[in-house]
Amino acid sequence: MHVSRVQIVTRGLTHCCPNCGARTLFKSGSLFQINPQCPSCAFVFERDNDEGFFLGSMSLNYGVTIVGFLLPVMLLAYFEVIGTWPAIILAGVGAIAFPALFYRSSRSWWLMNYYFFFPHHLPANGGKGRAGEDANT
Ligand SMILES: [Zn+2]
Repeated sequence: MHVSRVQIVTRGLTHCCPNCGARTLFKSGSLFQINPQCPSCAFVFERDNDEGFFLGSMSLNYGVTIVGFLLPVMLLAYFEVIGTWPAIILAGVGAIAFPALFYRSSRSWWLMNYYFFFPHHLPANGGKGRAGEDANT
């Protein structure tokens, strides 16, 4: 196996291609647009017949927003560290800003999550992408 799980996690945390490690997951100059495929190794990130794959990243983003931002704000208000109205305003603004700021990480982490459990699907490891697909030959 050429790409280890440690490399997959490192590449996922740094928004790099899980297959070759190049910083090509997102289009340059764009905050939210993912490249359809890696310009460096031609690994396909977004597949025509699997548009639902990244719905998992939205769930991940939602969960991290709840646990990582809204729950702490709620606890701060509950224990009266901050007032109720500042907590409501902070939660309202944060519920919009936090997912936007975490968007890139959630996409990358979701890709990392998949290939962490299925590293043999990476073309660098001799795989042909996800099961039932033949875009990464
Ligand atoms: Zn690549």
